[in-house]
Amino acid sequence: MPVINDMIPEFDLFQPADVDGALELLAKHDDAWVLAGGLDTFDWFKDRAKRPDVVVDLGAIDQLRGIREQGDGYEIGALTPLSDIENHEAIKAKFPMLAQAAQAVATPQVRNQGTLGGNIVQDTRCWYYRGGWPCYRAGGNICYADTPTSMNREHCIFGASRCVAVSPSDSAPALVALDAMMVVRSRSGEREVPAADFFIGPSTDITRMTVLNGRELLVAIRIPSTFAGAHQYFEKVRDRNAWDFPLVNVAAAFKRNGATIEDARVAVGAVAPYPMRLEAVEAQLRGKNADEATGKSAGELAIKGAKPLRHNGYKLPLMRNLVMRAVRDAQSAQA
Ligand SMILES: Cc1cc2nc3c(=O)[nH]c(=O)nc-3n(C[C@H](O)[C@H](O)[C@H](O)COP(=O)(O)OP(=O)(O)OC[C@H]3O[C@@H](n4cnc5c(N)ncnc54)[C@H](O)[C@@H]3O)c2cc1C
Repeated sequence: MPVINDMIPEFDLFQPADVDGALELLAKHDDAWVLAGGLDTFDWFKDRAKRPDVVVDLGAIDQLRGIREQGDGYEIGALTPLSDIENHEAIKAKFPMLAQAAQAVATPQVRNQGTLGGNIVQDTRCWYYRGGWPCYRAGGNICYADTPTSMNREHCIFGASRCVAVSPSDSAPALVALDAMMVVRSRSGEREVPAADFFIGPSTDITRMTVLNGRELLVAIRIPSTFAGAHQYFEKVRDRNAWDFPLVNVAAAFKRNGATIEDARVAVGAVAPYPMRLEAVEAQLRGKNADEATGKSAGELAIKGAKPLRHNGYKLPLMRNLVMRAVRDAQSAQA
């Protein structure tokens, strides 16, 4: 097993000045690694669990930074630091759950250095996988987190397929709940992928967590006005409030007419290998009053079908209560 070496193995570093240059490099080098803020990247390199020959550093590409109004919504460049999102006045006013999700990531230092794109594309935190164990996700034939003696307190209760690792991102469920579109570019053009389809589970491809195919870049995130200014809620539970990855987080948006919920989006993170949109819960909420009873039944429905592992049964009441609290918050905000 690799141990922390601190000495990063050698690679060729490219620092393109524009997106086209980066895409050309990705097309030319099959195993090229995209480098944004480096917070996830350098862990992998120092642990020697990933050893790419080529690294493409996006740091000099100014066109990938910034938050701008676009159409009736906002576009955020993939290289925009999380702290810019957390402090942006219009984002705080129109999409508060995204600002709160960005603020819930780690520490100010991490948020100054970490980018939105990196936070979205970051790999799972399963320590067996990150420790370099030859698990399914790493090309092996076992999930070390799903054996009778595994430590799997942080792992998934939904969506397992051989691998039981979860998506650890705080921004991802907020983007799913806001109907965000991921702008993906390759040398053959640009495509927009709904956030809910951008993240993939192990049954689709066990070696990656997003639709990005290695020759593609996430260049921007577009947030439509669908829920701009609507009531929004983000909550994250973690072991340590100083900084920690989510045990469970919830992001929700509600359009209300008086006490009635006309439309809703609810997404949870850290319970599945992808941020999980709760469409059945949303359907149940439509047309209901945002009250205690509605919140309770939403929470119950949210956890239906969950399959806890040996050590993460606590995620069921946690997820149920976070969904319930999101609905309850919509009730208290209308009073
Ligand atoms: C101490 C610590 C605590 C943390 N706590 C939290 C937390 O509580 N919640 C949370 O959500 N996150 C947390 N993180 C994760 C952190 O937010 C992410 O590691 C960070 O956002 C990654 O962003 P980065 O810009 O550093 O990306 P990098 O590390 O450079 O990249 C991360 C991954 O994304 C890929 N990538 C980056 N940008 C692009 C792009 N534009 N297109 C295609 N691929 C891309 C890279 O190839 C790499 O695989 C923590 C990290 C640390 C170090």
